[in-house]
Amino acid sequence: MASTLTDRLSRLVKTMRGQARITEDNVQEMMREVRMALLEADVALPVVRDFIARVKEKALGAEVVGSLSPGQALVGIVNKELAATMGEGVSDINLAAQPPAVILMAGLQGAGKTTTTAKLAKHLIEKRKKKVLTVSADVYRPAAIEQLKTVTRQAGAEWFPSTASDKPVDIANAALDHARRHYFDVLLVDTAGRLAIDEALMKEIADLHAAIKPVETLFVVDAMQGQDAINTARAFKEALPLTGIVLTKMDGDSRGGAALSVRQVTGAPIKFAGVSEKIDGLEVFDAERHAGRILGMGDIVALVEEVTKGVDMAAAQKLAEKVKSGDAFDLNDFLSQISQMKKMGGLSGLMDKLPTQMTAKAGQVDMDKAERDVRRMEGIICSMTPLERRKPDLIKATRKRRIAAGAGVHVQEVNRLLNQFEQMRDMMKKMKGGGMMKMMKRLGG
Ligand code: GDP
Repeated sequence: MASTLTDRLSRLVKTMRGQARITEDNVQEMMREVRMALLEADVALPVVRDFIARVKEKALGAEVVGSLSPGQALVGIVNKELAATMGEGVSDINLAAQPPAVILMAGLQGAGKTTTTAKLAKHLIEKRKKKVLTVSADVYRPAAIEQLKTVTRQAGAEWFPSTASDKPVDIANAALDHARRHYFDVLLVDTAGRLAIDEALMKEIADLHAAIKPVETLFVVDAMQGQDAINTARAFKEALPLTGIVLTKMDGDSRGGAALSVRQVTGAPIKFAGVSEKIDGLEVFDAERHAGRILGMGDIVALVEEVTKGVDMAAAQKLAEKVKSGDAFDLNDFLSQISQMKKMGGLSGLMDKLPTQMTAKAGQVDMDKAERDVRRMEGIICSMTPLERRKPDLIKATRKRRIAAGAGVHVQEVNRLLNQFEQMRDMMKKMKGGGMMKMMKRLGG
């Protein structure tokens, strides 16, 4: 492989010298960066190697057209290849079976199986209008059975009781029978996990699979697992014909490289991403968006959606227009941003979606603390006059003291808020300057 690539590289440089702009140097340089990005995002090393090799081949075979720079052309190729590796477009749950469609949940303990079972139940009820039954075959942990009962209730689905003294296969069969007789559309079967792969567990779930013949066998994996995800995925893939993957805890720090590893090892499509502990924290997985996240380009589409979801649309629209028209971003906007973030369930989810270069600094702040600070910040802004909020530059020492006293905080806190405001204003300016847009366009090419 290495020699072929080198051959191709030198051939390319020869044939393209003077006219095209992809050169051996910049291919190598770019590939080094891509490699770093993937490793940083915790993609498993063998997967990175494989991927780089594929991209190199594509890049060298590709014609560089129009006014694209070599870097742009390569980023475009990398992004497309990433998205293609993780699956084109989006894929939802397959329910094409004689009802009830059985869905088997597999994965390690703590991966998020039980939570995801309930999230899926809710998704199927709300989005697909299905009548859903859940059952737990986790006979090792009675608490897990109880947990499923609780979250199933929250999801508005029905729960089939099981006890630790039953056999998993018997539990599943009884639930299936119940689901048939009561005309359920879907039966979700939660299973036992272990902290690490073990053979007895794999055999048990394989037997369960053989008995209930699920239409979907979903492998639930924690995105934070990073490099280890590849081993877990391999073991489950050997035991079960997986039909889909759910990547949980995507709201964490991870850049989600596990997606690439798991997808490559199992060959199964990634169907959903878990994005919070809450029952509605499940999103249909979007490979293209996720490619951007892995490369550190930020998930602008998701950010925009998040900003407008369940939030004050009018305010969001006004803000968007302001940024576009170049009007000054003032403390009123800042306040409305802060309260919207609160509605969105905190700062951390949002920060996660911003491009790395924007959050390089922000990523290091303690998110819990940041969320606690939000209320104080509101207090501070509320003790400013309307004029001060519109023209924050007016706020000098005397005004700061008055504002601090009004909000019951130290002057330092007022200073900190003003600094944060300035940072956000800078960010807005950058976005308005089209830096981000240009970057996204480049990727689309
Ligand atoms: P199981 O052992 O595989 O059934 O895992 P659980 O469903 O009990 O989940 C383990 C822990 O992960 C729980 O504390 C869940 O709240 C949490 N969890 C599951 N999915 C997500 C997610 O998408 N985001 C976050 N932040 N936490 C999650």
